[in-house]
Parts: sequence; C-alpha cells; structure tokens
Amino acid sequence: MQQTLSIIKPDAVKKGVIGKIMDRFESNGLRIAAMKKVKLSTCDAKAFYAVHKDRPFFNDLVDFMVSGPVVVMVLEGDDAVAKNRDLMGATNPKEAKPGTIRADFAENIDANAVHGSDSLENAKNEIAFFFATREIC
Ligand code: GDP
Repeated sequence: MQQTLSIIKPDAVKKGVIGKIMDRFESNGLRIAAMKKVKLSTCDAKAFYAVHKDRPFFNDLVDFMVSGPVVVMVLEGDDAVAKNRDLMGATNPKEAKPGTIRADFAENIDANAVHGSDSLENAKNEIAFFFATREIC
C-alpha cells in the first residue's frame, strides 16, 4: 500500500471537472485519503516546484499554479505512485495516451490538469508539504 500526492490544477478546477477527475482515481483502485481546495501563494508554488527553479518554464509554471484554486489530495492504494502517473498520462497532453486524464481534460503542457508525485520519496515530501498527519484518514 502506497500514498501519493495529486493536485487538480487551476485549469481543471475552472473547467468544473474536479468530480470527473476524482472518479478516475476512485474507479481505478485509488482511495482519497485526504483532500482540500486551496489557493496557493507564489511562495507556496515556488517552494513546491523548487526542483524546477532553473528551468525556463519555472516562472510560467508558478504563475499558472497561483492563477486559481487547486484541489490537493492524498491518494492511497497498491502501487499508488505509478498507478496515478499512468492515469494522468504524459506531461504534454498532445503525447498523452487516449483515456488518460491529461488526454481528456488538459489544454497544453502549461495547463495540464493534474500533478502527481513521480516517486515514493517525492510523494512523502509532497504529502508533508500540504497535509498534517491528522488530516490523512
Ligand atoms: P509532471 O510530473 O508530468 O507534471 O512534469 P514535471 O514534474 O517534469 O514538470 C512540472 C510541470 O512543469 C509540468 O506538469 C508542466 O506543467 C510544466 N513543464 C514541464 N516541462 C515543461 C516544458 O518543457 N515546457 C513548459 N512550458 N512547461 C513544462
């Protein structure tokens, strides 16, 4: 049993597809162990994506992530990190397999609907970034 962090990004929240995205997780064996809707500050977004701070797209990514509320979740299940990444699809929705969340709901590589932890270690750090232990059920 693993836990991973998922974020429904501002584009998908604005589009009103929070429920449809959550259904992908629940229908594929991922339980929602924690969930909240938050508006990130610039400071939050910069800290969360610090690993990308030297990349040319960093400022656009931060601006996008603070452009509206996001829904942050802890997903739990067998092989949750890899399963969530499979359900999400490729970073660039143009390359995402049909039926994945990004193929169905994302606009482009900047507004790509969801974030998901890419390793178990990052999942632990990202979950701790957003949730206190008592908020995870
Ligand atoms: P993810 O794990 O699939 O979300 O991808 P990464 O962790 O590599 O990148 C974080 C986010 O930065 C992605 O979801 C994209 O929104 C954005 N991003 C990554 N690579 C690029 C790029 O080459 N160009 C642009 N414009 N954005 C990118």
